[in-house]
Amino acid sequence: MENVDELTAIKAVQLIKEGSLSAEELIMKKFDRIRNIDGSLNCFISVLDEVAVEAARTVDKRVRMGEDVGRLAGIPIGVKDNICVEGVPCTCGSRMLENFKPLYNATVIERIRGEGGIVLGKTNLDEFAMGSSTETSYFGPVRNPWDIGKVPGGSSGGSGAAVASGEVLLAFGSDTGGSIRCPASFCGVVGIKPTFGRVSRYGLVAYANSLEQIGPIGRTVEECALFFTVFSGHDPKDATSLPSKREDYTRYLVDDVQGMRFGVPQELFGKGIDERVEKVVWDAVKVLEGLGATYEEISLSSLKYALPAYYILAMSEASSNLARFDGVRYGYNSGEQGKDWNEAFSKNRREGFGAEVRRRIMLGAYALSAGYYEQYYLRALKVRTLLKEDFERTLQDFDAVLGPTMPFPAFNIGEKIDDPLALYLSDINTVTANIIGIPAISVPCGFADGLPVGLQIMAGVGEEGKIIRVAFTYERNTNWHKKIPQIDF
Ligand code: GLN
Repeated sequence: MENVDELTAIKAVQLIKEGSLSAEELIMKKFDRIRNIDGSLNCFISVLDEVAVEAARTVDKRVRMGEDVGRLAGIPIGVKDNICVEGVPCTCGSRMLENFKPLYNATVIERIRGEGGIVLGKTNLDEFAMGSSTETSYFGPVRNPWDIGKVPGGSSGGSGAAVASGEVLLAFGSDTGGSIRCPASFCGVVGIKPTFGRVSRYGLVAYANSLEQIGPIGRTVEECALFFTVFSGHDPKDATSLPSKREDYTRYLVDDVQGMRFGVPQELFGKGIDERVEKVVWDAVKVLEGLGATYEEISLSSLKYALPAYYILAMSEASSNLARFDGVRYGYNSGEQGKDWNEAFSKNRREGFGAEVRRRIMLGAYALSAGYYEQYYLRALKVRTLLKEDFERTLQDFDAVLGPTMPFPAFNIGEKIDDPLALYLSDINTVTANIIGIPAISVPCGFADGLPVGLQIMAGVGEEGKIIRVAFTYERNTNWHKKIPQIDF
């Protein structure tokens, strides 16, 4: 049989259904792989050995009985550790929730399990998903499988690196300002940030509700489309979930961009962009042109306000969301007796949260405080409207907007961690899709000195089908997705 570490989820489901690969064997191979390499990568915070093996055996038994085992039958899946799986610790990469075990499953977990998918473990992340490098986790940094001296991107760095290194076939990420697309770009895999409301957030620990979505990470567009189909769609348990009926995104796996028109905003190639990234992304645009699409260089001047507006919105929402973690209702409790409430509460939060989370809570509270609210939060909301209008206008003339996902390839571990502004700047191209709620995908489009580079494709609200089609066409006509990191550590 072919190398299990190089199997796609599509092929694996087919082999499992035919009975030529057992789900149990596949899971055991993945456990071996995690045992061999995760000491170096640190992608997993917890692994579900017995539960996962039991689930795999059930799939195999049902195959033998000729039952329909579902569209993700036997596929080992990594779950970012801010998504609830009943009975399994959900730490959010924080000391604050080190011992928190959810009493229920997130809707996305119910859905993948309903189609035979198997939760293999919970993946490492920046603390409460705040970061772009997966260095702020209480459980230590994740390393990039292409070069373990580099970051994997963040905040879904454990999910990105686990897929790239073949520890799992698919993984969930969450994307508030780029946290799926950034690790997808840095690790050379595919990641989708869906339209706001397309995926249920029931069971996702909130960082900034108005911005975030759960989305798929996989090695190929085809696998992401299948995975996404299974867990997306309306959920009555999430009031912000869109009422539209469920869609089969695999219909958009069409190898054709003939006649499509793309806008390429110069602002996505602004100050600070790495020249190698710029070249690789332009080559990708030319590939799509060669396949019958046309493009135009455009300017979207409001893009320059996106990053500051994002950080004000995200931190403001975070300061309010994280207020519930006080060691009394939820979370870490220092255990000290005899102090007044205020003192105990502050101590729990000071010790339970890491420095970046504390910084954001304070900045967010400041932006929302009387006297500053108009100057910061309200202004950021105005930028949100401006960006929305600008994009809507542009998308009347173009099918999609293209550019680099990240302005540079993966950087060294430790390089930016003491300089928060430098880290925030890495999100410059990804935050817009979250601010205005549109879908965006990152697809591997080449390398810069051995490190992967991602092409970002954005389209209008509800147009996941379009970005999947463009990315699939690009993938079908290039070979980047076949490059897999040589793991020799
Ligand atoms: N890097 C961004 C931030 O720190 C995005 C994080 C995310 O998408 N969860 O806010």
